[in-house]
Amino acid sequence: MNRFEGKVIIVTGAGSGLGQAATLQIAKEGAKLVLVDLNQAGLDETKKKVQEVAPNAETLLVTANVATESEVENFVNQTVEKFGKIDGFFNNAGIEGKQNLTGDYGIEEFHKVISVNLNGVFYGMKYVLKVMKEQGYGSIVNTASVGGIRGVGNQSGYAASKHGVVGLTRNSAIEYGQYGISIKAIAPGAIMTPMVEGSLRQMGGDNWEEVGKEFVKPNPMRRFGKPEEVGYLVAFLLSNEADFINAAVIPIDGGQSYK
Ligand code: NAD
Repeated sequence: MNRFEGKVIIVTGAGSGLGQAATLQIAKEGAKLVLVDLNQAGLDETKKKVQEVAPNAETLLVTANVATESEVENFVNQTVEKFGKIDGFFNNAGIEGKQNLTGDYGIEEFHKVISVNLNGVFYGMKYVLKVMKEQGYGSIVNTASVGGIRGVGNQSGYAASKHGVVGLTRNSAIEYGQYGISIKAIAPGAIMTPMVEGSLRQMGGDNWEEVGKEFVKPNPMRRFGKPEEVGYLVAFLLSNEADFINAAVIPIDGGQSYK
């Protein structure tokens, strides 16, 4: 399939995990890519992998913090200067934060998680939507979480931020559908990425792999999701095949959120 031939796609959090997996999928299908991350080494790794699967892919790498509005505005401007348009936006960068009961959850930690996961997603939508509205087309996929549709425990900042992402998605989707733009969110369950490994290490230290086996036992499919499984979903949602999917929040979690 070549669903992204000639299309310009921005991915935040492109240096690892779900962002990297989605990048590779859309690169294989012909996209011109703007890859954004705080972590330059992660971006370099993703670019190397892109070159392996799509040697002719045009890429622009931008080291930026999505929690800083001016840096978001800047990568959107850079995209338009280099490529002249934005077809799709995977608004995905996020952090988990430290786990703790709500009464023990640090205020600074709360603000930090909100600033990346919620403010960052809002800034991205704000600046990308201005461009897409002018164009009269575009697709945005925001990364929420199972923790954005139900409680998971010990994650006040994360849960609040991801519920917020669901709200932003639905609010903007009903505003911008009339301009030919669709906005949706994905709600992944536990997908084995460096973020989840970090979280398991918080719970189990060196014993984290054993903790992981216990962790997935209640999942109907008894396993973690794979980053590439999320990549396939994101590629579909960013493509024109999914233009009429708007305001939807799509779980990809082995059925966990329906138990
Ligand atoms: P990851 O840690 O592997 O990748 C996240 C990437 O985002 C990293 O490269 C990191 O450098 C980047 N990043 C973090 N803060 C940033 C900032 N302020 N500005 C720019 N880049 C920043 O994690 P992942 O599992 O791939 O997570 C990606 C998204 O998926 C996150 O929003 C996360 O909350 C969400 N999510 C993940 C899972 C899962 O199980 N892995 C489940 C639900 C939701």
